Amino acid sequence: MDLLRQPVVGRFVRWRYSRFVLQLPLLLLALLAIYDGFAGRQLAPKNLATVSVWLHYRGFLVLIIAVLGNLFCSACPLMLTRGLSERLRRFVPQLSWPMALRNKYFVLVFTLIYLFAYEYFDLWASPWLTAWLMVGYFGAALVTDMIFPAGTFCKYVCPLGNFNFTLSTVSPTKIGVRDQQTCLACEGHFCVNGRVDTAHGPEPLSFDTGATAGARYPGCETRLYAPEIESNFDCTLCFNCVRACPYDNVTWEMRNPAREWTEVRYRLDYVLLGLLLFFAGFMNAFAMIPAYYDLAERAAVWLRTQNEAFLLVMAFVVWVGAGLGVTMLVVRVSDRLAGLQDTVWVGLRRWGPAFLPLTFAMWAGHYAYHFLTGWATIVPVTQQALANLGLAVGEPNWQLAALVPENLLYPLQVIILYLGLTGSAYTVFAKARELGRTSSALPMFFYLAVLVVLTLWVLAQPMEMRGTLLDPGSQPGGLK
Ligand code: SF4
Ligand code: SF4
Repeated sequence: MDLLRQPVVGRFVRWRYSRFVLQLPLLLLALLAIYDGFAGRQLAPKNLATVSVWLHYRGFLVLIIAVLGNLFCSACPLMLTRGLSERLRRFVPQLSWPMALRNKYFVLVFTLIYLFAYEYFDLWASPWLTAWLMVGYFGAALVTDMIFPAGTFCKYVCPLGNFNFTLSTVSPTKIGVRDQQTCLACEGHFCVNGRVDTAHGPEPLSFDTGATAGARYPGCETRLYAPEIESNFDCTLCFNCVRACPYDNVTWEMRNPAREWTEVRYRLDYVLLGLLLFFAGFMNAFAMIPAYYDLAERAAVWLRTQNEAFLLVMAFVVWVGAGLGVTMLVVRVSDRLAGLQDTVWVGLRRWGPAFLPLTFAMWAGHYAYHFLTGWATIVPVTQQALANLGLAVGEPNWQLAALVPENLLYPLQVIILYLGLTGSAYTVFAKARELGRTSSALPMFFYLAVLVVLTLWVLAQPMEMRGTLLDPGSQPGGLK
């Protein structure tokens, strides 16, 4: 089913201001959150910056990716800096993004630094730091797009965007085309190059040459060519391609995401990003349970240091390194059972995509927990932030912050993890069938099942209620 054929959706997406309409509410919310982060009360569960970023943004993100697609990139308010960056371009040198960095390795390192900073600086607990993080994000998007071609920030720099790309491999929708023959005959490949409309009928006279006459429809800024799109990786769902194609040939179609995991031959850097997000996601959840603090204390004694940064780096390196190492070993065993002698990198490209559904499930289970422990808090914190601005809309009701559906939390996480394991299992067995050796799926399947059991054990432990009024660290004299 092509969602663009649905009456309201199709008309809205084709409208050239549709993205702006999605971005505007998030921009206003971000500005209010930044204001509250700097000027409001510095108590995480009662500040809009921390509540909106660490509880609601992340919870809605996984939900919308699961039911529709990467609409958060679509509505990303950072892209509203684009107009300003285009104006400032003539004052700075124009560079192209280095060839050596046209992959996911830069963003992979950047993501690790970001996750480290999140733990080390307790970002979820500091409205002030969270506000600075948002300002830094706006600044980074502006500067990158000022110096480098549009789309560079989204594709090669932004950890959040790349996180969304990876998770949206499970989404039930994807951009595609209606008729491949039309694309073969298409002279301008406008979906990727963009076009300038003319007053002379539906056919474009030229694509984007910088001409001033007529409306300008930019093409795909992350340089995806609509008829060749197989995966949601790198697609920000900006719908530029839909508006730029003069033949109305682009679709936003419902699909079975399992086809992506089983059929797409991902590059190694994409696979490694998926793996890193899985193991880092596990680490992120593990760092919130008592077992982590016990382990950290023992490591401190053993290594004779109390340096928290060093211990945290060690924890990340050991866990993520061990995860990648064991994965390579299992991949090799699966390859040998299939009678293959490929290098481990080729094996990772073959079996690694099986992690994608589980990576989504890992983060979805974790974020669902945080979101549900503070879901109604958004009402009083927004009221309070508006009141600070002199726009009072009723008395904040802080009782809402304690509406936690505790009975639901763990069962929901278990269901999400099992669904993820089902997707992963389907992928490994489909790949093994393709190789003609079903038994070659078994090592990967058992490995993924063990990882799920470990994850469920972590999620079953008493966990810090970060960023909520139930967090002991948020109470005067609390534990953290
Ligand atoms: S999607 Fe449209 S613009 Fe792109 S190649 Fe096909 S016909 Fe041309
Ligand atoms: S223009 Fe590119 S990024 Fe935007 S929706 Fe189309 S394929 Fe995705």
